[in-house]
Amino acid sequence: MSQSPHFGPATRAIHGQRQRDTFGSPHMPIYDTTTFAFPDTATLLEVTEGRRQAPLYTRYGHNPTLFALEETLAALEEAEAAWAFSSGMGAISTLFLAHGRRGIACLGEVYGGTLSLLEQQLPALGIETHLLEGYKPEPLERLLASGVGLVYLETPTNPTLRLIDIAAVADQAHRHGALVAVDGTFATPINQRPLALGADLVVHSATKYLGGHSDLTAGAVMGSAEMLAPLWHWRQNLGTALSPQAASLLSRSLRTLPLRMQRHNASAQAIAESLRGHPAIERVLYPGLDSHPGHALAQRQMSGFGGMLTLELAGGREAAARVADRLSLFALAPSLGGVESLVSQPCATSHADLTPEERARRGIGDGMLRLSVGLEEVEDLLADLHQALDAKEAGRRGASGTPPP
Ligand SMILES: *Cc1c(COP(=O)(O)O)cnc(C)c1O
Repeated sequence: MSQSPHFGPATRAIHGQRQRDTFGSPHMPIYDTTTFAFPDTATLLEVTEGRRQAPLYTRYGHNPTLFALEETLAALEEAEAAWAFSSGMGAISTLFLAHGRRGIACLGEVYGGTLSLLEQQLPALGIETHLLEGYKPEPLERLLASGVGLVYLETPTNPTLRLIDIAAVADQAHRHGALVAVDGTFATPINQRPLALGADLVVHSATKYLGGHSDLTAGAVMGSAEMLAPLWHWRQNLGTALSPQAASLLSRSLRTLPLRMQRHNASAQAIAESLRGHPAIERVLYPGLDSHPGHALAQRQMSGFGGMLTLELAGGREAAARVADRLSLFALAPSLGGVESLVSQPCATSHADLTPEERARRGIGDGMLRLSVGLEEVEDLLADLHQALDAKEAGRRGASGTPPP
């Protein structure tokens, strides 16, 4: 649905949903029902033949709770349309099946599940996929010239927080008639708007910042109605539409997304600045630091630098594990984007399947710790990080065989 362009993100997050139920509830209730009855056959046909959008069958995504959520998702991304999925992977796999049949070129690091689809499952279906290391115009040009139809990328990437120039990729792809889809999970629609930069489709794991409370699993795809249309039968027949219960929870979360992102951005920036130069840390990777190789691009294409930051510990794998174990406010867990702070060591979790050489080629050091900076008081998070980093003596004893206290 079209939105008034002069409204800012916080207003769109709250007023993006225009539909009201018959009682005028400001928040669409959970329509916990699988099917909807019609007064007569003619009215039913209007809906089944696509002349009118109305609740019909929940697996189709034809449910008022989903419609309401999708209006807000579209408003946040300033997209013509948005569809909600059962998970981020539900959204990504549906997108690939609908738009990937002319071949997919993937630029740089992507989420593990996405990589598995591109390396294993899609090729098994005869879909050609190409994994490029980052964005370089020449190799992409060759693939586009050979007829590849979809360019896919994440920015910022996980866990090295590299950036890809969305506008440059879109320009190049469009010259060949290819589409560009961006996984915007790390940035959210608050910090980055790929459609405005020229991308055709945006996908999010709403399990992360959009949900924001580590209590729901969901995904979303946004774009023009024309770009979303090919996904329709796939979502319907794969059964990847979101449930009304999760849709309601996600609708509630979206109202505070702009507010939460402001705090995530500010706290991560403060932590990045405080930890850079710490003797136990070799590098702090954060797009908001002027030392970040993508900082200039981040200033151009992002309006906030996000809540994710990665530390590279000078002492390598053991040092990183010791710091992770000493943190008390950062829970040791995969995932990201919730109100609570999390820490993970990529070489032991998300990238454990790769050999050390493969990790090194991707710039993923074994001494890396990825932080998802939550909404706690930033002073408390900083104190926790500093005590964990400064406890060197105990750490050294731990490494030489005596367990740390
Ligand atoms: C988590 C994540 C996904 C997958 O999302 P699920 O909701 O877990 O299916 C995809 N992309 C990125 C960048 C992610 O962080």
